[in-house]
Order: sequence, then structure tokens, then C-alpha cells
Amino acid sequence: TARKRFGQNFLTDGNIINRIVGAIAPDNDHVMVEIGPGLAALTEPVAQSIDNLTVIELDRDLAERLKVHPTLKNKLTIHQGDALKFDFSQLVVPDRKLKVFGNLPYNISTPLMFHLFEFAEHIENMHFMLQKEVVLRLSASPGTKAYGKLTVMAQYYCQVVPVLEVPPGCFTPPPKVDSAVVRLVPYAVKPWPCKDVELLRTVCNTAFNMRRKTLRNNLKPMLSDADFELLGIDPGLRPEDISVQQYVAMANYLFDKR
Ligand code: SAM
Repeated sequence: TARKRFGQNFLTDGNIINRIVGAIAPDNDHVMVEIGPGLAALTEPVAQSIDNLTVIELDRDLAERLKVHPTLKNKLTIHQGDALKFDFSQLVVPDRKLKVFGNLPYNISTPLMFHLFEFAEHIENMHFMLQKEVVLRLSASPGTKAYGKLTVMAQYYCQVVPVLEVPPGCFTPPPKVDSAVVRLVPYAVKPWPCKDVELLRTVCNTAFNMRRKTLRNNLKPMLSDADFELLGIDPGLRPEDISVQQYVAMANYLFDKR
């Protein structure tokens, strides 16, 4: 039976599973990594066409089951533990980037993505099942309600492509929310390089502190009207009205002023 605290909603719809595996496009030229394999709904079809698949599963019982799985045990490298604490750089081999995927436990999906962004340079792409609302936030455009700090941080690191929507009935037990699969492709060369990513996070957190307030009000402790003038950004705008590039410009400006 599914463990609620581990966010276990197992995929059971064959058609959806096929479409996700198609999007992942498993190959032997990358280090394939699955987060939260569970009962192996994605693990089995992915492993079928490749030589090795690394999986990270927190649930001891599920990890043990994979270790004795008749067709999978020879192909899997199993790490029993918390993906949030996993050092993904240990999987890197010369000339091979990682392809990471998973039907993520929704309660940890945002911190997990932030954790993975730290390894972005080693990652070719990521495919994740998430709450649909989170996919909308990841892929949002400036000026929309879904645009926020998660959008800015994700789009700083990655190109974001929504892949497909998945209704609750495709899982057992069905989650209470709609789901969607997203593809995140880390930029090999960042379009807007940031000098200090922690500072970018701080600027985003501060700017989006009160969504209905202006940039001037939210960022008062950090940037004056004169600073905004030099940046060429109108301080009367709302936080959702400026681009990722402009957020990076603010962070780099503050970095240089230090
Ligand atoms: N991939 C399976 C599927 O699609 O049917 C299971 C998906 S289920 C939504 C999430 C899986 O992640 C569960 O197997 C759960 O035990 C595992 N999990 C939960 N928290 C985890 C963590 N911190 N690190 C690694 N795995 C975790």
C-alpha cells in the first residue's frame, strides 16, 4: 500500500507511461537517473532499451524490492536514500551528461528542483511529473499570475517545456490535484549569466514578497530610485512585470556595488 508521507502515487496508465518514456528518450550516451522509482512503472520501460539505470529511492521496502526484481536487478544501480541530499556529481562520468527523470513526490518537488539546479552543468535534461500548477509556474511568461520566483529561478537555469497533462485517474491512489510532465533543459551557455546565484534568489524572494506591491516598495532595502534609473527598470512596475534577464541584471548590479 502507498505511503502518504513519501508522496506515493503510482502511475498505472499504460498510454501515459509510454508517452513519458518517449519524451525521456532513454539512451546509453547519457547517465540515466530516476528519482523515486517506486513500483517501477517508468523504471521497467526505460531500463528495457538501455544498459544501466541509476535509481534513488527513499523507501527501504521499495528499494529492497528493486534489488531482487527478476528482470531489473542486473540493470539497476540502486541508491536507497533521500534525493534531496544526494550528490549528483558522483554520477558524472567523462563526456556523459545525466538525463534525470521521475514522477516526483509533490511535497518535495520544488526543493528537489533547486537541489538539481546546483548540478545543472552536468545535466542534459530532466523530465518530471509535477503538480500541473507547478508546471504552469515553471513555464510562465512575465505579466501573468503564475509568474513568480520559481519561474525566474527555473528559467535562469533551464529552458522549460511543458510536455503533457495527466489527470488524477492515471495514478493509484489518485492525487488530489491535476498533474503534468515538464522538460527542463539546462542551458549549456547561460543567456544571462549571473555573478552570484544566491543573490539572485534573495532579489527574487524580496521582489515577490508582496505581489501587489511595486518593485520600489518590495526592494526598498536593496535598491533606490537612482539604482533603478541606472538599471533602466521602472520601479513602479509589479514584480511579475519584469523579465528573467532584468532580475539577473538587478542581482549583478548589487553584486558589483558590494
Ligand atoms: N515512479 C513511480 C511511479 O511513477 O509509479 C513512483 C512515483 S511516487 C509519486 C514518488 C516516489 O518517490 C515513491 O516511490 C517514493 O517512495 C519516492 N520518494 C519520496 N521521497 C523521496 C526522496 N526524498 N528521495 C527519493 N525518493 C523519494
